[in-house]
Amino acid sequence: MADNIPVFDGHNDYISRRFEDPKVDLFSGEGMMHISLDALRAGGVFGGLFAIFVPPTGGFHGKRESAPGGMPPRVDLSYARRVVVTQFALLLRMIEQSDGAFRLATTVEEIEAIRDAGSIAVVAHVEGADGIAASLEELDLLYAAGLRSIGPVWSRHNRFGHGVPIFGESTPDTGPGLTSAGKRLVRRCTERGIVVDLSHITERGFRDVARISGAPLVASHSNAWHLCRSPRNLTDAQLDAIARSDGFVGLNFGTIFLRADRAVNPDTPLTVMIDHLRYLVDRLGVERVGFGSDFDGAGISAAIGNAAGMPHLIEAMRTAGFSESEINGIAWRNWLAVLRRIWGR
Ligand code: ZN
Repeated sequence: MADNIPVFDGHNDYISRRFEDPKVDLFSGEGMMHISLDALRAGGVFGGLFAIFVPPTGGFHGKRESAPGGMPPRVDLSYARRVVVTQFALLLRMIEQSDGAFRLATTVEEIEAIRDAGSIAVVAHVEGADGIAASLEELDLLYAAGLRSIGPVWSRHNRFGHGVPIFGESTPDTGPGLTSAGKRLVRRCTERGIVVDLSHITERGFRDVARISGAPLVASHSNAWHLCRSPRNLTDAQLDAIARSDGFVGLNFGTIFLRADRAVNPDTPLTVMIDHLRYLVDRLGVERVGFGSDFDGAGISAAIGNAAGMPHLIEAMRTAGFSESEINGIAWRNWLAVLRRIWGR
């Protein structure tokens, strides 16, 4: 049996699960949904983006990408700021208590060194800038703490822009684009070399970022709208804009964003994921596609089960005819390359 293909994963929601339920613990595996230290190691995962996320007031329970209801209401700045500080501290404490198993990474060189030392590289991501004031002071502070990726909006509206709904059949053209504060946020991220994550933003917001950023466009955990007509997925026009910018798309494992019927259904064959990978590769080029699992945030195929099941997806890619070089690109190398293009600017 060959060694696992290494994996760098563009999105997980472990920290917000831990925030909502302190009994959830990736070291002991208690309360595990998709992520534990053992499962990450078994799956060959050597790094990824860990999301800091402000849950809707009132809260989801469990699979937040699959929660019922429409667009969650806006959240108050002071509430959101407090949640972001608390979750960032949870992330730092997880690293501190890991005895070297996890380490924070702020450059690709650090990710590679952490991988080579046998540890797991943690890249801090904020999913929705609700905890940042229009003055962007918190952005400066978060950057100093190690933040290297931010989504201006999650699937709700805030002072920077507008998010798409998670449910229903629609294009992502569901609302306005960036506000003037949103444009300032994107410019500041571009100057600093922070990833601007376009998963969850409206199509008009996406076009605003494309116009003003100049950096490679990244959607860390979204799929092809052509195959699954969720507003969370990317239209062909968006995929073409991402390709022109030398950007990147991470495949979301949530069945709600994969299946044509948008069902949360663990009985979903891996061929549905392969179909999206093929479509993204054909549209973007094989060097601009990777993984953004949404582990701990969305219901996934039982054929993967949890992070330890990554080799099953890799095997399905082999069966579908992807070469070893293409598989290594999609599994990790392409993510590191786009992070180098953005962070290294
Ligand atoms: Zn998300």
